[in-house]
Amino acid sequence: MSKYLADENGYYGAFGGAFIPEMLYPNTEELRVNYLEIMERDSFQKEFKYLLKDYVGRPTPLYYAQRLSDTYGTKIYLKREDLCHTGAHKVNNTIGQILMAKALGKKRIIAETGAGQHGVATATVCALMGIECVIYMGEIDISRQAPNVARMKLLGATVRDATSGSKTLKDATNEAIRDWINNPVDTHYIIGSVVGPHPYPDMVARFQSVISEETKKQLLEKEGTENPTHVIACVGGGSNAAGQFYHYLDREEVNIIAVEAAGKGVHSGESAATSALGKVGIIHGSKTLLMQTVDGQITEPYSISAGLDYPGIGPMHAHLYSSKRAQFVSITDAEAMAAGKRLSELEGIIPAIETAHAFAVLEHQKFQSDDIIVFNCSGRGDKDLQTYIDYFEL
Ligand SMILES: *Cc1c(COP(=O)(O)O)cnc(C)c1O
Repeated sequence: MSKYLADENGYYGAFGGAFIPEMLYPNTEELRVNYLEIMERDSFQKEFKYLLKDYVGRPTPLYYAQRLSDTYGTKIYLKREDLCHTGAHKVNNTIGQILMAKALGKKRIIAETGAGQHGVATATVCALMGIECVIYMGEIDISRQAPNVARMKLLGATVRDATSGSKTLKDATNEAIRDWINNPVDTHYIIGSVVGPHPYPDMVARFQSVISEETKKQLLEKEGTENPTHVIACVGGGSNAAGQFYHYLDREEVNIIAVEAAGKGVHSGESAATSALGKVGIIHGSKTLLMQTVDGQITEPYSISAGLDYPGIGPMHAHLYSSKRAQFVSITDAEAMAAGKRLSELEGIIPAIETAHAFAVLEHQKFQSDDIIVFNCSGRGDKDLQTYIDYFEL
């Protein structure tokens, strides 16, 4: 058993667990008792692998970025999650969870979404399986993210607006939880990152671990070793990072770098740099690091990228931070935008702005010429085109 993975109670060191209202207990308990046995079934693995291959398009390439490598004087590989169906790694998890829901006999799916990326990945797999799908989204996010709302509707999902509080992700999450409490028998709640009460962080990390499983094989073919010297990924909740780090956690010779969004600067008051600013607390049913005021109110996070704009990190990452297994780096909006433009010009790959944060590490840290660095290229930049246009006045 890895000391960096969840124990049977869902703890990563001091972090994780399941801090939920009594009324949610039956729902998470059903999942907790069954998820490992279901995931280990041959029939489950067979269908999961088949869909990852023929529907998602896996394995995604491990691409040697020649011009980027020349520019920084080191060897750089990109794990091309941006080439997954729907444009990012998120679909690996939603495919896994829709199969889990089916195995549990569920007839209806709910999810919450902020920018809409997880909502689209969820609506996609519900269409694939012909299962009813209800997506909760804050009223303000619905107006900010019109193209993703349209995608979800086109995919046959119902989008319900959350009109309480700040009318954003937190409020959508509350509505989704209320729905789940009222529909414990027929409904599965698809959480989109390695967050939430046990067993979600562990289940989502396992579904995303296909990323590092493939990386090991692909790097062995290209470099004669499964191990890079560094793996680097951006962290919102932490699912693409969990997938890229997973099979390297116990290989201490592999350096792990997790990249957070510093927004307008770590100490600007407009940031999402959770490890730098966070304290231990409970968010979405999990004990982890989160940004909060001295009296424990969760601080409103800020980042130019919607996917990193989250006040916490998953418990696995809180543990990687506090145990010093991973190095955490904070990257500002400006550094991320410049890195996104650089990758576009040097490699012909326009990354999601979340992903661009990871690449900005190249400006922060000097690597050796014989280092082998693997970046999780978590998503493509199509969804961020308007942000790029406004930022660079294109
Ligand atoms: C959602 C998203 C993220 C952040 O989520 P994680 O769970 O931290 O991976 C990162 N990159 C892209 C492209 C995303 O869509």
